[in-house]
Amino acid sequence: MRRLSGGRLVVASHNAGKVREIGDLLRPYGVETVSAKELGLPEPAETEETFEGNARIKAHAAARASGLPALSDDSGIAVDALGGAPGVHTANWAETPQGRDYAAAMGEVWRRLEIAAAPEPRTARFVCCLCLAWPDGEDAVFLGTAEGRVVWPPRGGNGFGFDPMFVPEGGAETFGEMAPDAKHAISHRADAFRKLVAACFGDAPGDAPGDAP
Ligand code: IMP
Repeated sequence: MRRLSGGRLVVASHNAGKVREIGDLLRPYGVETVSAKELGLPEPAETEETFEGNARIKAHAAARASGLPALSDDSGIAVDALGGAPGVHTANWAETPQGRDYAAAMGEVWRRLEIAAAPEPRTARFVCCLCLAWPDGEDAVFLGTAEGRVVWPPRGGNGFGFDPMFVPEGGAETFGEMAPDAKHAISHRADAFRKLVAACFGDAPGDAPGDAP
């Protein structure tokens, strides 16, 4: 697969939480990032019904417009008792005329679970699809997941979006309560990222050949 070697990379997102997390995850690889928002690139409409389809739209639009390789992230939370909703529509559930309201969106998830009298644990997973696209149209996609359950009331001020209502499998704290490094160790974004790094960045720092036990 085509490798990314030095130079600038556009993070094809206007979501500050995602841009921050992708910057954290890329930092060890010495990649210089600039966000689509910083470049003033328009946000393309996400018209596909899959994470992969929407990730491709965003990465290709940013790569074409900037002339640089671009990395997009399409993600969301899928709640089993809601038939996988909000899924690819996660961001839409937070839209209000005044901007995104995640407290309201989390409340809507819980309200629907109560109406459905869904049994506990109310299992869910975060899904992340990363797409790395080059200006000539080549691309690669990587899918990551984090299994867990949704809880009420929301807890914790870290992270972003639905983090305060998601407890990862085997844990007690929500993603919103966990330190950023602890979330990065197990998140859907980190899972997809590991696959991207293995395919396009070569070995992780410290994993040089011969380092294996
Ligand atoms: P989109 O990929 O821009 O369509 O938006 C994905 C939405 O999913 C975000 O706006 C968040 O609400 C939610 N989301 C994705 N990843 C995370 C995460 O790591 N924590 C919390 N919410 C997330």
